[in-house]
Amino acid sequence: MPDNDGSRTIILEGFQVSTMQIRGISIKRFVALALFCAFSAVVGYVLAQPPGAGPGRFELGRLLPPGIRDQLNLDPDQARGIAALEQVAREKLERILTPEQKLILSNSRPPFGPGRGSDIQVRPSNKPGPTLSVGAPLTVNKNNDEPKIEIKGDIIEGVLGDIAREGGMRGVRLLSAVDRNTDGQHAGSASWTIEGLKPSVGRWYSFRVRALVQDGFKVEKAGFPRLTVSFFRDNGTISLDQISKSMSDAMLRDRDNLKDEGTNKNLGAATWRWHGFEFRTPFPEVDTVKLSISFEGGAGAPQESELWISEVAIRPIPDRSAVEPIQARPFPAKEDLVPIAGRWYYDSAGGSRSLPTRFDHTNAGRLVYMTDKPETPFAGNMSSWLRRGYLDQKGQPVEQDQYVPEAVVISFEGKQLVMRSRNLPNHPTGVFPDRSRWLDGNPNIIRDQSYTWRLPLEPKENPRHIAMDERNSNRALPMGPIGVATNGVVFFNPFDHGTVDAVWRLDRCCGHPSPGQEYHYHKYPVCINTPWVDDGAVHSPLIGFAFDGFPVYGPYEEAGKLARDHVGNPLNAFNLHNDPARGPHYHVTPGKYPHIIGGYWGVTEPQRRRG
Ligand SMILES: [Zn+2]
Ligand SMILES: [Zn+2]
Repeated sequence: MPDNDGSRTIILEGFQVSTMQIRGISIKRFVALALFCAFSAVVGYVLAQPPGAGPGRFELGRLLPPGIRDQLNLDPDQARGIAALEQVAREKLERILTPEQKLILSNSRPPFGPGRGSDIQVRPSNKPGPTLSVGAPLTVNKNNDEPKIEIKGDIIEGVLGDIAREGGMRGVRLLSAVDRNTDGQHAGSASWTIEGLKPSVGRWYSFRVRALVQDGFKVEKAGFPRLTVSFFRDNGTISLDQISKSMSDAMLRDRDNLKDEGTNKNLGAATWRWHGFEFRTPFPEVDTVKLSISFEGGAGAPQESELWISEVAIRPIPDRSAVEPIQARPFPAKEDLVPIAGRWYYDSAGGSRSLPTRFDHTNAGRLVYMTDKPETPFAGNMSSWLRRGYLDQKGQPVEQDQYVPEAVVISFEGKQLVMRSRNLPNHPTGVFPDRSRWLDGNPNIIRDQSYTWRLPLEPKENPRHIAMDERNSNRALPMGPIGVATNGVVFFNPFDHGTVDAVWRLDRCCGHPSPGQEYHYHKYPVCINTPWVDDGAVHSPLIGFAFDGFPVYGPYEEAGKLARDHVGNPLNAFNLHNDPARGPHYHVTPGKYPHIIGGYWGVTEPQRRRG
C-alpha cells in the first residue's frame, strides 16, 4: 500500500480499539467485539472515512478500517454480519446526531499525543477543555458525547497560552497564585469520569496527562500536584478505593534536569512532558474510574504560575498474571516473538508468525526492540496531524487540520529498517513563522515532507569515526538530518547555518523548522511519546536512531541519574556508551553539548532520501 498520498482512510479511532481487543481476546470472540463496536458507534465514537473520500468527510458508523479488515481475512458471513452492524450503527447515529453535531464531528480538532497509537481511542471535541483519549473498551458517559469534566476550586478550563505563539491549545489551567473562588486557599481539582470498564477486557490501564509546568508554579503542600484514579462499581454509584501519584518530584526534577542554560528566556524551563502511571483495577467489580489532577497549598509567583494540562489519556494495556508494581510494564510472551534481525522482533501475539509487509499505526505496538526488556518504540508515534498553517507537500498552505494516520510507515528490506516519514510532529509546536518573535523570529514554516530513511538493523562501529569538536569545525556531523526520532521527525546537529548555536531557538518541544521547512530537533525532544512515562526511575526508553543505526535514548541512565553525569559508565565524545543489555547506545544530554549525538559512532548507510 502506498503512503503519503494524503487521501487515505481518516480514522477517528474505534478500530484501533478493535486491533487491541483482537490481540487480547483472540479472534473467536470477534463477534462480541463487533457488538461492542456497535455500542461504541451508538454513543458516537466510531467515525471513519472510506478510502478515496476527500478529507473532512466522515462516514458514520464504519466499524473497521480497510487495513484491519484485510488483516482479519473475514469470511463472507462475517463480512455480511459487519455490514449489517454498520448499517444499524449508521442509522442510529443519523437519528441521534443533529446536522450541526455531525458537522462539528467532521470539523473537530482532535488532540495530540499517544492517542494516535495502535490502541487508543480518541474523543473528538470542539469544546474548550483538554482532549481526552480513551482506550477501546471504555465509554465516556453513556448518554453524553462530551467527556464529563468536573472542575473545582482554582482551575480554569480553556485556551492555554498565546494563540499567536503556541496555536491555542485547549486544556485546564491550575492556578497556583490566584484564589479564583475566593475561599482563602489556592487549591483545585479537575476530574474525568470513564465508564464501561469490563474485567473481560482486562484490568490493566495506563493513565497519562500531558502537562506544562510554568517556572512560577509552586505548591507548598507535600504530595501535590497529584494524579488520582478513583474506582467505582455498580455503574459508578459505589466508591471503592483510589490510588494517587504525586507529580511533584518529577516536576521539580524536570525543572532541574531539563533546564538549559542557553535556553530561550521567554520559555524558561517550561516544556511539555507526560506524567502518569499504570494501574490495575483492584476489584473485578470496578466498572467506572474517575481520573483527576488536583493541587493544594498553591504558593506560586504572580507571573508564570500555572500548570497546564493539554491532554488526558487512558488506555487498556495487556494483562499480567499477577499484581505488579506501578512501574511494571506488560511484556509480550517470549514464544510470540519472531526474530527479524539485530534487536528487532515481531510480536505475533499468538497469530501468524510471518512478518507483516509493513508496520503502521495499526500494528506498530507489535514491532519490538529488545534490550533488557521488549520495548515498542514506535507505538503511538506513527500518526500525526497536518495542521492549519503548515505547508502541504506542494508547498501550499494547509487550511484545515487534517489527521494523517500514516505519517510514519516502516518496512524491513534485507538488513535495513526502511522508514517512510512525512516528518510531522505529533505533539504541540510553536507557531511558525514566529511573527511575534517569541523564539527568535524564525521565518520558516513546518512543511509536510516525504522522506525515506534506511537504518542498518545490525549497526557496526566505524573504526575511523570522529566526533565533533566544540563548533563542529571538523564537520564530523553534516548539517541537515543526522538521525530520526521514533515519531519520524529528524534530528540535526546543535548548529543552524553551520555555526549558530541552535539550542536556544527551539519551541517547548525542542524543535523548529529549517529554511527547507523541515521541523527538526537540536536537543532532547521532550515531547516524544515513549512506551512508559520517563520519570527518571529507570534507564530512559529509546527515542530514536542516528543514521548509523545505533539507538538514541532519553536522558536517564538509572534511577535519578542522568547519563550526562554518570561516572560509572560515562558517555564518550559521541554521547555514547555501552552496556550488556543495550549494546552501544547514545543518550541525549539536556543542557550539555552535543545534546543529541556527538558524531556517528557507526557506519552510516549511503541510501537516504530527503524531500
Ligand atoms: Zn535548526
Ligand atoms: Zn545508557
